Amino acid sequence: ITVLGIESSCDDTAAALVRVRIGSGGARGPGEILSSVVIGQEGLHAGFGGVVPEIAARAHAERLDLAVEAALAEAGCGLGGVDLVGVTAGPGLIGGVLSGVMCAKGIAFGAGLPLIGVNHLEGHALTPRLTDGIGAPYLLLLVSGGHCQLIEVAAPCRYKRLGGSIDDAPGEAFDKIAKLLGLGYPGGPEVEREALSGDETRFAFPRPLIERTGFDMSFSGLKTAVLRARDDLVAVAGGITVADRADLCASFQAAARDLLAAKTRAAMVNLASGGAHPVGARRLAVAGGVAANRAIRGALEAAAAETGFSFHAPPLALCTDNGAMIAWAAAERWALGERGGEITARPRWPLDESAPPMLGGGR
Ligand code: ATP
Ligand code: FE
Repeated sequence: ITVLGIESSCDDTAAALVRVRIGSGGARGPGEILSSVVIGQEGLHAGFGGVVPEIAARAHAERLDLAVEAALAEAGCGLGGVDLVGVTAGPGLIGGVLSGVMCAKGIAFGAGLPLIGVNHLEGHALTPRLTDGIGAPYLLLLVSGGHCQLIEVAAPCRYKRLGGSIDDAPGEAFDKIAKLLGLGYPGGPEVEREALSGDETRFAFPRPLIERTGFDMSFSGLKTAVLRARDDLVAVAGGITVADRADLCASFQAAARDLLAAKTRAAMVNLASGGAHPVGARRLAVAGGVAANRAIRGALEAAAAETGFSFHAPPLALCTDNGAMIAWAAAERWALGERGGEITARPRWPLDESAPPMLGGGR
């Protein structure tokens, strides 16, 4: 089937067409991405150091049709060639989500197509199936602008949360530190670039909870430590040099990297030793915007190799928000028997509350 996916939960307006094979056991990856259009809003929020919800919602409303038309054109198909529409129904900024849902409803109603409301996090979570066609179970580290979770994907659309950040998400920490150091938004890529020329051993930033058993992490103390280190430099020298900035970025990124790798490693060891994930089914996948970070990817890949897990990381453009992941997730649900229905836009929607369609969970 060919699926149109629409995403507008944060600051990217995105639409994509994905062709998905449906087998007896469900959707079979990898999927074929026919087109993927992402219209960013960097310029709109640049002066604010973060996303302004009202500005984002208005921009989505203005650009959604454009994104869908571009995705159809790029794929060389009209709505007649589409079998299913998927749209992000949450979690996210409610104005943007509502704009996307209204746009999708219009298209689906007009063209007589079924419409499925997708949990944005499920889009991220199932991306390794779209890109690599991996089977379940797999361990997933979901690290993004708003989330940080270690999740066991027991089967498509069936999730068990093992642990995660007890406070900030890593992407949020990257963004705040970038803002603090006068770098642009979004902060992740900027901090990563600065870190390349920095000395990660110069500042010994804390790695909260790293020694503690369990799979929880914390990033707010780390953020505060970076802030304090910068203030100390300013107090002594009246400002920070280019080298100081690079060292702060490198030392921060190293702490985030170590923390994520250590907890993910612990989760892999746990799943392997409990027999929950037998040899041959030991897979680690990473998803979400922060998964685009090469230092973090590298550390996770090494940890996977050490523990005998295969490693799956989507290409950078499919780590951050996009329409293809929403199309894929809708196809997975369609393959499991979901046929759509009334869509409720939800600002908050934990992934493990996304009931698998087979269980008839009221969505
Ligand atoms: P969520 O998916 O939790 O609702 P979101 O959709 O805003 O949040 P994503 O688009 O998945 O988040 O990811 C955006 C985040 O990823 C931003 O915080 C950004 O700074 C971060 N990010 C992007 N690229 C990198 C990178 N190379 N290194 C670190 N962080 C990055
Ligand atoms: Fe996201």
